[in-house]
Amino acid sequence: MSQVRTIRGTHDILPGETDRWQFLEKIIYDIGSMFGYQEIRTPIFEETKLFSRSVGEDTDIVSKEMYSWKDRDGTDLTLRPELTAPVVRSFIQHSLGTSAPVQRLYYIGPSFRRERPQKGRQRQFHQFGFEAFGSGNPEQDAEIIAIAWQILSELKLNESTALQLNSIGSKDCRMAYREALKEFIRPNLDQFSEISRKRFNTNPLRIMDTKAAHEKKILEGAPSISEFYTDEDKWHFESVQNFLSVMNIPFSFNPGLVRGLDYYTRTVFEFTSDVLGAQDALLGGGRYDNLVETLGGRYTPGIGFAAGMERFIMVMKESGQKSSESKTFIYFVCSNEEGLPTALALSNELRNAGYSVISDPLRRSMKAQMREANKLNARYALILGNTEIEQNTIQLKDLKIGDQISIAQSDLIHHFQHLTK
Ligand code: AMP
Repeated sequence: MSQVRTIRGTHDILPGETDRWQFLEKIIYDIGSMFGYQEIRTPIFEETKLFSRSVGEDTDIVSKEMYSWKDRDGTDLTLRPELTAPVVRSFIQHSLGTSAPVQRLYYIGPSFRRERPQKGRQRQFHQFGFEAFGSGNPEQDAEIIAIAWQILSELKLNESTALQLNSIGSKDCRMAYREALKEFIRPNLDQFSEISRKRFNTNPLRIMDTKAAHEKKILEGAPSISEFYTDEDKWHFESVQNFLSVMNIPFSFNPGLVRGLDYYTRTVFEFTSDVLGAQDALLGGGRYDNLVETLGGRYTPGIGFAAGMERFIMVMKESGQKSSESKTFIYFVCSNEEGLPTALALSNELRNAGYSVISDPLRRSMKAQMREANKLNARYALILGNTEIEQNTIQLKDLKIGDQISIAQSDLIHHFQHLTK
């Protein structure tokens, strides 16, 4: 029979790598609670219209990258390509806004996009993200960015990443800008690609996202959104920058940063890393003041970010970042069948006391078990042979130093606590 393998663009995360994943996840949980955010878990598939209404019909994600299908009852379903829309859906569905004026949420989980796989780009990938609902004030933007910064700092990645910041203004600003941009493009419209011409009518701002060199050239002289900021947009953006400065979070202003999704308003930001190559976006986010309303809820401002976990893992690996500190690891060597009840009982006592214990279920020779203990890099070996069984003792070997002593079984836990203090 032919062998079944993973689907293109999806990957197994193997035992040697999962330590690093758990380390990253623990940091996300810790920083989440440090900032008073709580985890939310939503389903992996949702109604397709959730994404077409929020992310935008006209975006790459919705127009060509979603895994969608018709359910047996005819409902259009989609594997989530991102998690902000599902979190907003849940926020509205469970009236989370009524229980507290500010809701602070975070998530971790897989997302699916049918993109062309390459380094740092998969079809199933994992994201973590933070979302804050209820405040339209710039201090909330600064807090969300500070969370990202804190996670990067905890991972010692803050030096190798750069924060780019922009404001794409409020709805009013974008309406005015939209018209100005159309005026600018119109005389040269025939030189634009079909997709850009389509966007000219649906969402001209997205033309600015073009990768085509000749289109970029024409757009060089285009008006800038900052010329259309309302007074409040200006105040908001300046305040965000001041707050970041007082928190010593370095950033650079990038007027070209618009970000691909439709729902952003005002602040948008991205952390990039040079380690990543072409797909250098590590984490991106922004304010989405109209999204809750767009999806049928009461007007509630919000801001958040999403980060690609595979890309974090890549940067962590590159910078030599270790996984979490492991527990003291003991290999329990038992020489014969009579010793097994004692070996099992003592192993469990040690585990209850917080140590990590492995023993050999293959009943191999003592020599083979010792070899295995060394191979697995155990810190200590406990050896239970015939003499030890008779005398209620056990041999303790320090595998780093090579010393071996005999101790009473009843003294074992106490002895370890003393050793590893
Ligand atoms: P986005 O929702 O497009 O802003 O993506 C947020 C983050 O998810 C990006 O900054 C990337 O780190 C990550 N990401 C997006 N698409 C992919 C993908 N296809 N494979 C791996 N990571 C991705």
